[in-house]
Amino acid sequence: MQKQGLLDRLKNGSVICAEGFLFEAERRGYLASGEFVPELALENPKALKNIHKDFQHAGSDVVEAFTYNGHREKMRVIGKEKLLEPLNRAALTIAREVANDVPTDCEPNLIAGNISNTNIWDPNNESSQQEVRLMFREMVQWAREEGADFIIGETFYYAGEAYAALEEIKKSNLPAVLTIAPMGENIMRDGISIIDTCKELEQRGADVVGMNCFRGPTTMMPYLKEIRKVIKCHMAALPIPFRTTKDQPTFFNLDDNNNCTCPSPHGRTFPTALDPMYCNRYEIRQFATEAHALGINYLGVCCGAAPMHIREVADAIGKEVPASRYREKMANHFMYGTNERIPDHIKDYGDKA
Ligand SMILES: [Zn+2]
Repeated sequence: MQKQGLLDRLKNGSVICAEGFLFEAERRGYLASGEFVPELALENPKALKNIHKDFQHAGSDVVEAFTYNGHREKMRVIGKEKLLEPLNRAALTIAREVANDVPTDCEPNLIAGNISNTNIWDPNNESSQQEVRLMFREMVQWAREEGADFIIGETFYYAGEAYAALEEIKKSNLPAVLTIAPMGENIMRDGISIIDTCKELEQRGADVVGMNCFRGPTTMMPYLKEIRKVIKCHMAALPIPFRTTKDQPTFFNLDDNNNCTCPSPHGRTFPTALDPMYCNRYEIRQFATEAHALGINYLGVCCGAAPMHIREVADAIGKEVPASRYREKMANHFMYGTNERIPDHIKDYGDKA
């Protein structure tokens, strides 16, 4: 089947992009929390392939190469800089294989390259900025060589770093998706407002602009509404599935308010004890429905997302995907169902169950 590009798909409808693979790989036992390096592309390629396949089944239109944090600086931190290029190429190869291996009669998925926050960007230090640019440049080049259809620059909390990422992506002539992730100060770390950063990204030629990660639906949506009023390009929204609040807008400082009896040893719920603050699937559905109604048509869920969240997004915007076959069927539940075969005495027992 003919494969449409990202921009054609967005012109004609919506694109769903699964991401947040650090959390999912950690949950499946293939990656160390905290350190968060996507080494499984080399160490457990089958496990990575399975993650991609499960999100594809759930409705992701994009296979985003798992190179998040797979940049030169992080590889230096763990003393494995020599694995940088092999890791990137392996992740891209796996993404390409999965993207091309879709169910019969389905359009192949889009392959996305990925660059992200480097955590060494310093607005007052030219040489750090130059180093970041070179890190982006090499990753974008590998993505291009390995057949990426577009590049995602994501999770930037410095506006300057997001602009640098965009510039490097644009050199590849591939479509650019830029999503920012402001911290709890609700402003970019270099003092530029969230809205102004998005306006500037559009001005500088990003094809899709929006927000991803760090924030749950509740603390991302108010900004999306404001951004939508001032930019005309396609917009992206990919929150984390956790119940962040006005006082704790990101998952970095989110407290457990759900009767925790054994707090994490490192003193915060992030990243290993967030589970009780999980959004339910209906909250994700509500978010996707609202975002879609605002005209935001590049949608997904970030760190913490399970395939069922992606299916919920697909369902919310009216897409039939392979996993739609298994959407909930409470009618046949043994106790709470409405099926005529469910005996009355079992139904009546439901409130005491
Ligand atoms: Zn994330």
